[in-house]
Parts: sequence; C-alpha cells; structure tokens
Amino acid sequence: ALTGRCALVTGSTSGIGLGIARALANSGCDVVYTGFADDKLLTKLQDDFRSYTGIKATYIPADLTSTADVERLCAEARGHCTDGVDIIVNNAGFQHTSPIESFPLATWDAMMAAMLTAPFLIIQHLLPAMRTKGWGRIINISSAHGVVASVEKCAYVSAKHGINGLTKVVALETAGSGVTCNAVCPGWVLTPLVEKQIRQLMKDHSITWEDAQTMLLSNKQPSKGFVTPEQIGNVVTFLCSQAANQMTGSILSIDGGWTAQ
Ligand code: NAD
Repeated sequence: ALTGRCALVTGSTSGIGLGIARALANSGCDVVYTGFADDKLLTKLQDDFRSYTGIKATYIPADLTSTADVERLCAEARGHCTDGVDIIVNNAGFQHTSPIESFPLATWDAMMAAMLTAPFLIIQHLLPAMRTKGWGRIINISSAHGVVASVEKCAYVSAKHGINGLTKVVALETAGSGVTCNAVCPGWVLTPLVEKQIRQLMKDHSITWEDAQTMLLSNKQPSKGFVTPEQIGNVVTFLCSQAANQMTGSILSIDGGWTAQ
C-alpha cells in the first residue's frame, strides 16, 4: 500500500526503529535506515532488507548529536529517495539514568540533541518538499515518558515531553496541507535500551533476569507484557495509510495501560 513512497527512519539499526523500517518495507515502501552499526550488523541488515521484494533500502550513517551529520543525512536521504522523502520517522534515542543533582550536562546536551534538536532539524529540512507534493507523514517516536515522568530520567522525560510539543506545533502548521504529524508513545519494549535497565535491576536487587523483567513491568505497565517493535511498526504503517489522513497532532499511547493509571 506504500509502494512508491520513501521513508527515513532514524535509529533503525536496532530495536523499535528496525521494527518500523521492516514494517514499512513490508508495505512496499523504500527506506533509508540509519543509526550506529558495525560491519557485521550492517551485513545482517543488508541481507534482511534484501528479503523484501520490490523495495530499495539504503544505509546512511549519521550521529544525530552532530548538526552537520543531521544535515548530511537529510541531503543524502533526498538523494536516495527518487521522488523525495515522503515519511519521516524520528525514532533514534537513548537513555541515561541519574538523580538530577549528578546528571552530567554533556549527557543532557547529547540527549536533547539526538532526541529533540535532530527531529526539529530533520523536519525543517524535509518538510518543504512534502508541502510541495501535498503529501507527507511525520511520526515521532516518543514514550510513555512523553506523557508522565519517572525518577532519575530528567533529560529523557524532558526530551520526550518536548517532542510531544513539537509534534503538536508541526501538526498545526501543516494542517490541511496533506502532511500529518503524530507522536507514538510506547511503554516498555524489550530492546537493548531496556535490557540495560533490566541488568541494572538484576544488580541492584540481586535477582534473576526473569524476576527483573517482571519487576520492571509490574512497576509501570498494567498489562505486564512487553510492547513489540512489530506492533509499533504496524501502528506507524497505519499512520501512513489513507485511514489516518485526518489524524494529526495525536499523541498515541501503546503502553499496556501505563499512562491510564
Ligand atoms: P535501541 O537502543 O534498540 O535503538 C536505538 C537506535 O537509535 C539505534 O539504532 C541507535 O544506533 C540509534 N541511536 C542512538 N543514539 C544515536 C545517535 N546519537 N545518533 C544516531 N543514532 C543513534 O532503543 P529502542 O528501545 O529501539 O529505542 C528507540 C526509540 O524508542 C527511542 O527514541 C526510545 O526513547 C523510544 N522508546 C523506547 C522504549 C523501550 O521500552 N525500549 C519505550 C518508549 C520509547
């Protein structure tokens, strides 16, 4: 259904972003994937994307904490997409936990740069062509932490609340243009980002991997089940469909009930 469209998905070498890139490729969409990866992972990803027939997938490396890299990524993505970038998925991100008193400024700055400034710049660079075309989809992968807070996550919660605000502004500025902008707010998804937090719980409480998973889920997510990258990929694909033409400025929770409490 997305044949002829072209998507830029940031942070698509792992976890949720990879799930989204796969779902879009599965719908016939060309993809630009980006994020950190070593040669071994890149070979694996190349093989993976080759298995989707009739689509073009290209890897463009970029560190989203660098403005120069973000600008080059946008320029190269435009080059890859024969008819311009139709779909932006701002997904790349990372976590750092620490009480605010000891939260390093450099980490705060890097998290803001990758999770808030980079999406801003990518939208700024690629929106004009979407407007001209009269069609576009901007999907920001936020978090339950874009809606509610947790301790020791000041930069993450601030960046995610920020991206929800940015989503609403872009939705208003593009209303009626054929471009929509929405945010998706997942709860816990079992990816390397969360595996790190599970390992921390194992250490802090001297418990097993399974018990740490249960503790993590029980604390926040009433369903007690992980959201999967595939499920988020399908929601993103839905947002790219015609059924979602009038959905814009929405903050969509996929969090097993986390923010219903
Ligand atoms: P992940 O660690 O599996 O993947 C993160 C991706 O972002 C990787 O491709 C990585 O290379 C890329 N990335 C990180 N820093 C980057 C930088 N400076 N420049 C370029 N690329 C960079 O994590 P994930 O869980 O898949 O997270 C993806 C997004 O989903 C993040 O924005 C995260 O905040 C959000 N999220 C995750 C969860 C969860 O439970 N895992 C929940 C809610 C929201």
